[in-house]
Amino acid sequence: MGRGLLGEAGSRIAALEARTAAIVTDGHVGPLYAEALAASLQQHGLRVSIITLPPGEATKSYASLERVCDAVLEAKVERGDLVVALGGGVMGDLAGFAAAVVRRGVRLVQVPTTLLSQVDSSVGGKTGINSLHGKNLVGAFHQPSLVLADTALLDTLPIREMRAGYAEVVKYGLIDDPDFFAWCEANWRGVFDGGPERDEAVAQSCRAKAAVVVKDEREDGDRALLNLGHTFGHALERITYYDSARLVHGEGVAIGMCQAFRFSVALGVCPPADAERVEAHLSEAGLPTRLAQVPGGCGTVDELLDAMAQDKKVKGGALTFILVRGIGQSFIARDVPVASVRAFLQDENS
Ligand code: NAD
Ligand code: MG
Repeated sequence: MGRGLLGEAGSRIAALEARTAAIVTDGHVGPLYAEALAASLQQHGLRVSIITLPPGEATKSYASLERVCDAVLEAKVERGDLVVALGGGVMGDLAGFAAAVVRRGVRLVQVPTTLLSQVDSSVGGKTGINSLHGKNLVGAFHQPSLVLADTALLDTLPIREMRAGYAEVVKYGLIDDPDFFAWCEANWRGVFDGGPERDEAVAQSCRAKAAVVVKDEREDGDRALLNLGHTFGHALERITYYDSARLVHGEGVAIGMCQAFRFSVALGVCPPADAERVEAHLSEAGLPTRLAQVPGGCGTVDELLDAMAQDKKVKGGALTFILVRGIGQSFIARDVPVASVRAFLQDENS
């Protein structure tokens, strides 16, 4: 990772010794960066095709998967060749899944272009698409052979997407690294402005995620900590119908992390001052922290509970939550009684 890496993409990717690369990108990112990437690959002797799909979460669908798989086959990608995902998490998840299944698996290179994808989705090997039954329910673990995160590409990212990704950066501090959270409080402006702090934040986030995934690739245990703020967050995304005009994932996570802290305070396991500090930082960075900030409202307590119960982190009626004893001290709490969640949400909603 680093500023300006796209120009070196050819030499780095050529080192994987493939003959053909199918670049999968979306209609926002393609016009900005696909030609430069393709040219760099061609200079290093690779045959390149570019597959462009509509931007947005709706593209993580069966229909797009079919389109990508057929286009990748059409491009004569064989075993040993490459699918290159150029874009945010939507492209990474979709192209990654196509790479996992085309010819029973071809190699994948991730070139993430959003802050969220650079610090989260491009690392760790989860790929997939959405089903009518919910998000990310059809997919595969397929580790990339290479991830190239050019932090200069974030210069064109809309501010709202930048903030959304930043929520996931902060998450790593909240999970188990209080020093990194304090670093975020002091340096977040540089991350947004594209100073050296941005590279530092991306690098530190990838180190943190990789450390978790190396220990628990398939989420049998501690990988679940990466879901801090996501049980509440996913419920909000569901309630707002995944409508990005109302709420994007990182915004849901920002509210969800604040709720996880306030819920932990309500359960008597976390000092209130820590919850206040988290909320102050996220809101300073321009992120929402309260249910009341969801445009168009967030539904009733029953609707929220219902949306949570549909999340995959529910087992036998009890909820699994990532709770905190403080900043940098998260833990997995299984069997959280629905009654405590209800009482907390009633409080939040009043
Ligand atoms: P995204 O891919 O939809 O990108 C957000 C928007 O920014 C899109 O409109 C895109 O076209 C645009 N864009 C991307 N890069 C740009 C750039 N450099 N300049 C200008 N515009 C740019 O969204 P995202 O937030 O990157 O990813 C969200 C997806 O990631 C979700 O589907 C989520 O489920 C998935 N995800 C996966 C994992 C994982 O482990 N696989 C982890 C977290 C999230
Ligand atoms: Mg997330």
